Formats: sequence, C-alpha cells, structure tokens
Amino acid sequence: MGLKAYQKAGQKCRKNALTLFTQHNNLDSEDMEDKIREIAEWIVNAKSVVVFVGAGLSTESGIPDFRSPGGVWDKYDPEDFYFQNFISNETAREKYWQMATEMYESMKDAPPNAGHFAIAELERLGKLDCLITQNIDGLHFKAGNSEKKVLELHGTAMHVTCLSCNKRYERDDIQTRVAAGQKAPRCDTCGGLLKPATISFGQSMPERETAEAYRRSEACDLFMVIGSSLVVHPAAYMPVVAKQGGAKLVIINRDETACDGMADIIVNGTAGPIMAAILEKMKQRIHL
Ligand code: NAD
Repeated sequence: MGLKAYQKAGQKCRKNALTLFTQHNNLDSEDMEDKIREIAEWIVNAKSVVVFVGAGLSTESGIPDFRSPGGVWDKYDPEDFYFQNFISNETAREKYWQMATEMYESMKDAPPNAGHFAIAELERLGKLDCLITQNIDGLHFKAGNSEKKVLELHGTAMHVTCLSCNKRYERDDIQTRVAAGQKAPRCDTCGGLLKPATISFGQSMPERETAEAYRRSEACDLFMVIGSSLVVHPAAYMPVVAKQGGAKLVIINRDETACDGMADIIVNGTAGPIMAAILEKMKQRIHL
C-alpha cells in the first residue's frame, strides 16, 4: 500500500480513536493532571522535541507488544529468531515466517489510535523534530506523519527484501505466496532468502536512521518516550544520549522502564488517552 492510501485509511479511524479516548479517559487524578499540564508546557516551550516510541503505543490498535502478558514472547522463544539462525537454517526460517505472518496479520489492517494521532498532530503543529520508532507496523503513516519526520529504527513489516540482491517486494505479494504453501519464500530474481524488511536480533541496524536518531536525540531539548520497556539496544540508548545532551526526559508507559531512574517526569498509564490529553492542554495553551 502506498503512503497516500495509508493516510486515507488512517483518517477514517481518527474519529473512532478519539471517541474511544473519551470513553477510557482515566486522567482525573490531580497528580496526573499536573503532569499532563507540565508536559504540555514543556512541549510548547521546547525548541526541539524528539518522540521515541515502542510497541506499547500500538497495543491500543490491537497489535500485541513483545513483553506484556499475552505478548509475542509468551508464545515464541526469542532465541529462535536470531538473524544468524535465519541465515543458516531452513527450519528456523520457516518458524520465523510463521511468527512474522502472525504478527503481520495483526498489523496490516490495524487502525492508528489516539496516541498515533496525537503524534501526527504534533508534526502538523510544527512541534516535532523527529519521531524515532521501534515499531514496524506503519501506523504513524496511517495517522498522518510524513516520511521525512519518521525514523524507522527497526525497519518495516510492510515490505520484504531479498538478503542477497536487495530486491524489495510489497509484503502482501509475498504473504500470498506464504499462504499458497511457500514456508520460507525466496527471491524470484536471484533465489536469495526473502525476509520482512525488519531488523532481527543480531542483524545490523539501518545506518542512516541510526546515525540520524543519535544525532537528533543528542541535540533535542525534550525527549519523550511512549510505550517502550527500553530494554532493546541500541534503540534504548537514545533516551540516555538525549539526557546526556541536556534534554528533559519524559516517559509515558504502562509499566516500569529501564530508564525510569533518569526521567524528569514519568506517567504510568495508557498512552493513547494520555497523549490526547497532553495535546489538548497544549492546544489550549497556544490558543488553538
Ligand atoms: P516491549 O514489548 O519491550 O515493551 C512495551 C512496553 O509498552 C511495556 O513496557 C508495556 O508496559 C508498555 N505498554 C503496553 N501497552 C501500553 C499502552 N497502551 N500504553 C502505554 N504503555 C503500554 O516493546 P519495545 O520496547 O517496543 O521493544 C520491543 C521490540 O518490539 C521493538 O524492537 C519493536 O520493533 C518490536 N515490536 C513492534 C511492534 C509493532 O510494530 N507494533 C509490535 C511488537 C513488537
């Protein structure tokens, strides 16, 4: 699916997401209100806001994360999915494609939620330096973020690449082959191994995106983490780099994260409603 088609599909979901937000709004405690007001104020005053997200941002869209109960690692053993195993072993490749097919099924028609829309709105308001995402589900584009602002650190599940000749395929085309019985499909040009264009454990990170993410994290003055346990490296170094560069660090996550000790504000809760509330406060503050 092209970028325009994604965005069109995404806008349809916007209304539903905002309705859900009001239904699930649990933001009435005084402490929570203070934090939301303060974060909104920080965004208004910041020169450069970097948003860093993980799988937790997309659970409200129906896509399981890795580490929560019922998440992907409750079902599969991460060690089965090391890149080296994929390269060297046909059984591992078949197992990988089985897991990847299951994840893709949960992603391909998933709607963006209030959290995605709030981040897209930050871009629209000129308040987003960049969005560093560990997610591979393409939902930022459905919500309206532009390609120039999004750094996909772990690649995308929406495409497949040949590990030998780098030929790029639409994911749906390859899934049709998998459904027809190809358990570990191969490139029709060179016969090389096909793999979703995502980064597995042990696989090299994309050079441009990683370098750019480090540079922007170091230079920003407000760094916001949303929906990540911050245990997957090198992605999880970004908040550390931001902090070392002098940025304020905000963490919005349901559970504890590995960087809680260095955060300036931690909001433990559900990302969509919290982000929508922050955006609302921010708009009031700038009279929009
Ligand atoms: P993770 O599974 O390690 O952590 C997710 C965190 O999000 C948890 O700490 C959990 O408490 C929190 N969370 C879950 N739902 C939430 C919600 N609604 N609101 C607020 N917090 C919520 O995920 P990670 O840190 O992103 O790292 C794991 C890897 O998972 C990444 O590399 C990513 O590529 C991959 N992944 C991506 C997707 C996706 O694209 N949607 C899905 C699964 C895994």
